[in-house]
This record gives sequence, structure tokens and C-alpha cells, in this order.
Amino acid sequence: MNRFSDREPMGEKGAAEEHRFTTQVLPAVNASAPAITEAAERIRHGELVAFPTETVYGLGADGLNEEAVAKIFAAKGRPQDNPLILHIATLDMLDTLVKEVTPAQYSALQRLWPGPITFIFEKSDRVPERVTAGGSTVAIRMPTSEVARSLIAQAKTPIAAPSANRSGRPSPTTALDVLEDMDGRIPLILNGGACDIGVESTVVDVTEEPAVVLRPGYYPPSMLEKFFPGVHLDPALVLLNGSSPVSTEKSTSPEEGVAPPKSPGMKYRHYAPSAEVTIYIGEEKAVESRMIHDFYALSEKGKKVGFMVFAEAAKELSLLLPPEKAVIRSLGIEGRIDTMGQRIFQLLRELDRHHCDAIFVHGIEPVGYGVAIMNRLMKAAGGKSIYVS
Ligand code: AMP
Ligand code: MG
Repeated sequence: MNRFSDREPMGEKGAAEEHRFTTQVLPAVNASAPAITEAAERIRHGELVAFPTETVYGLGADGLNEEAVAKIFAAKGRPQDNPLILHIATLDMLDTLVKEVTPAQYSALQRLWPGPITFIFEKSDRVPERVTAGGSTVAIRMPTSEVARSLIAQAKTPIAAPSANRSGRPSPTTALDVLEDMDGRIPLILNGGACDIGVESTVVDVTEEPAVVLRPGYYPPSMLEKFFPGVHLDPALVLLNGSSPVSTEKSTSPEEGVAPPKSPGMKYRHYAPSAEVTIYIGEEKAVESRMIHDFYALSEKGKKVGFMVFAEAAKELSLLLPPEKAVIRSLGIEGRIDTMGQRIFQLLRELDRHHCDAIFVHGIEPVGYGVAIMNRLMKAAGGKSIYVS
């Protein structure tokens, strides 16, 4: 679309020709929405379609069509060495994509799928190398979202889909978020409303014994233990503050020098809005007063600050701080971790739209699902965190 044409940074290869679609956004609130049939048709023709899942919106292509899969990397600006997840609608789609599934794995899949969890298997010859970034393993997930499964079933092919954001940006959890990043780059977005979970799937490598969680997600290892005895987080993810290593010069975390994680995607700085993000860790009152202190230091320099804090603090800060300099958003009631998960990416994007120079986020303890939430936040912050006591 022409409004992109003259503001692309120089040197972004092929950018102009990627902006050639009039991106349609069509409603798809349930499995029988007519737009899903149109989307499936496009997938079969090798085109890209963004679609909702319970975790985040995906940018889908026919996972068995190399050329279609290549378009995903181009539209996202995704590094070629970062493999994709194949999405399936039924368990019988799995057999031809992987070398082997043991009976124990099979019964675990029957219990855990559909769900916000991805498994890594040895790939079959049918899976293009483009999907696996040349590797011998493939990531597979059956999403809970009925819209997603209806799309896959109608397309009659596994759908390769990473998150539908431009590479490095926060993952999209609404159709509007997708449009913000993909307008003009893809022909169609299915709008299924806001994602229920809002954080990407747990990725579990079951080619190892015991199984290893390569990316933390909604299902923590403790919940998977009965299916995969001994399952644990990739040691590269287990760090003091529950975050993961990030490759950025800005990092001030104690994480540098840690071995890179095995899930290739985890090595990139990620999920980042334009604003500089800082995570504050500590008790609510202490965090609130430290944030106020830091806010005044920045606002004196003419900076605008976005806040992602819990409900109580949001109310208090709204009364205290000047609204033209402080944009305050609630992460929900403290302790309601599911609500926080639903909001993190949404709010990072929203505060960017408000042109905040800095974003202050109240972090949580990295236990259970909190590991995944803190992992995403620490990446958005490039590791920048402050402990307040
Ligand atoms: P995204 O869909 O954008 O959330 O990215 C998919 C995630 O799955 C990335 O972190 C990838 O590195 C990871 N992934 C995909 N395939 C594999 C694989 N074969 N082995 C390890 N990690 C994988
Ligand atoms: Mg992603």
C-alpha cells in the first residue's frame, strides 16, 4: 500500500515489492465462518494468511510448500535460521510429518492436544528444510482455537506459522496488532478477537530423554511432569530472575556469557516495542515509589513514560502523575497471572502507539506460568531490570 512506500528504511531488501497487497481483515469468530473457507483457499494457493490461535496470532502458509513458507520469512523479516512451528488440526496429521512417536508420547499428546504446547520431533522427509531451518527436527502444535483448526482442516495441509508480528516486535494478540505490522504485506487477516492466553506456546523437545522445555509457556514443567517424567527447563533459561539470555549490547542483566538456548528463536532480542523497557521487581509499594522517582527524572528531560502496573498502583499513579507525561495501564489485579499474560504484548504495543519514550513494568516472581511471562518481559526489556527492596 502506498502509505508505506516512501518511509521504508534504505537497504531493507525487497521491501517495496512486499507492500503490494490491500490487506483484508475478515471476521472469523467460530469454526464455520465463511472467511475461513476463503483463507483455506489462499493457503492452498501458496499465499499467506494471518489467523487467531489461543496463544497469539499466527502468520500461516502451507507448511509443505517451500515457496509459500519462504514468504513468511520475507513478510516478517525473520532470520532464516529461526525454524517455524507446523500446526495440525487432528492427530492423524502427525504421522507423516515425524519419524517416530512412541506409545507414551502418543498418549501424552492425546491428553495435551489441542493446547498451547508445541513438541519437537525428528522430522520426516516430507517436511521442507525451509520450515526447520535446515535442522533434522520439526516443531508441531495442535492449537485449541476452533478457528485455527477449521482453517487447517479446510486447507488440508499442516500450516507453518510463527507469530504474525514483524520480527523483533511484540507478538500480536488482536487482528489490529497484526494489521499494524502486516498491512500491505499479506492479503488476509482472520479476525477472531483477542487471544485467550496472549503468550506463545510452551516448546518441549521430546527427542531428548528426559524431555526439555526450550521455550516456557502457559504450561510449566510441573504440569508436564506426569506425562514426561523428569521434564525440565533448558538450563540456558534457568537464571536468577527467571529470564533468558538476550543478545543485545544494551543488556545490563547478569546473564551474559550463558550458553545459547537450543530453541533458535530464543537467542534474538524479541517482543520489543520502540520505547526502552525496564522491569521493576519487588513489593508493590516499593516498586511504585521507585517508579515515581524514576518517572520524574525522565519527565524533567521531556520524556513520556508508559506504566504497566497492577490495578491498585494504576489507580494511585493515575491520581499522582500528569496524564500528558504518564500513560498508565493496568496488568489486572496482582496475583491474577492469567490476566497479566493476556495483557503484556497488548500493552507494550499500546504504549508504543502513545509514543512513550520509556515503559516501566512491574515484574513478577518467575514461578509456574510466571517463568514464561517474565521471559517475554525480560526480552522486551533487553534484560534491563531493577530490584527494589
Ligand atoms: P514463533 O512461532 O515466532 O513463536 O517461533 C517459533 C519458536 O519455536 C521459535 O522460538 C523457534 O526457535 C522454535 N522452534 C521451531 N522449530 C524448532 C525446532 N525444530 N527446534 C527447536 N526450536 C524450534
Ligand atoms: Mg514470534
